[in-house]
Amino acid sequence: MTTNDASLILIVEDEQKLAQLAIDYLQNAGFSTHTLGEGETVIPWVKQQHPHLILLDLMLPGRDGLTICREIRSFSNVPIIMVTARIEEIDRLLGLEMGADDYICKPYSPREMVARVKAVLRRLQPQADDIYQVQSLTLDADSFRVFAEGRETELTSVEFQLLQALYRQPGRIFSRSKLMDQIYQDQRVVSDRTIDSHIKKLRKKLAELLPGQELIHSVYGAGYRYDPQQDSDADSDA
Ligand code: CA
Repeated sequence: MTTNDASLILIVEDEQKLAQLAIDYLQNAGFSTHTLGEGETVIPWVKQQHPHLILLDLMLPGRDGLTICREIRSFSNVPIIMVTARIEEIDRLLGLEMGADDYICKPYSPREMVARVKAVLRRLQPQADDIYQVQSLTLDADSFRVFAEGRETELTSVEFQLLQALYRQPGRIFSRSKLMDQIYQDQRVVSDRTIDSHIKKLRKKLAELLPGQELIHSVYGAGYRYDPQQDSDADSDA
């Protein structure tokens, strides 16, 4: 099981329906939750209850999320995920360096929100590794789902393990036999072609998630490598 079973998530959200959705999904994922819908109540509550993570809406009655976030940062490093109504707002908030750990734009997929919550918590607990995030891709090893830019796709177990192996070490070249070791610990009865065909399906799913971006590169005669930086499969460093 995950290590965040008992983590307490504070949901600061004045839209009741959205708050309820967040409660349902977070509790389903094993978190405890508390909800506040009014800006003024947040700081005293955080000081008393010490939540493990705060999902903080930007627009709130009483006091806005920006002011709240800044004030929390003056006394606590508790992870904060800022929730905004407009995607353009995220750039502005990043520029303000207000100290949030992540940003989610409404309307969000509740499953992605849960994965982001786990990812932020994992980032701060590096010993656990079943949720992690590199650039815009978020992997959830509990469900074999991958999230990017508000979209999600479900992988097969083999596809997930392949992606996981590559993704954990971006830039590193994995031979096909190394990849086979990663996914078939006991029975090495698959051929190189099996790996190629799984990779092909995996690439297709990732291309639907992030059109125009090539994440998994084939390296001629060597194998595969995960590289979110390069968008061509040419080996420019050769
Ligand atoms: Ca609001």
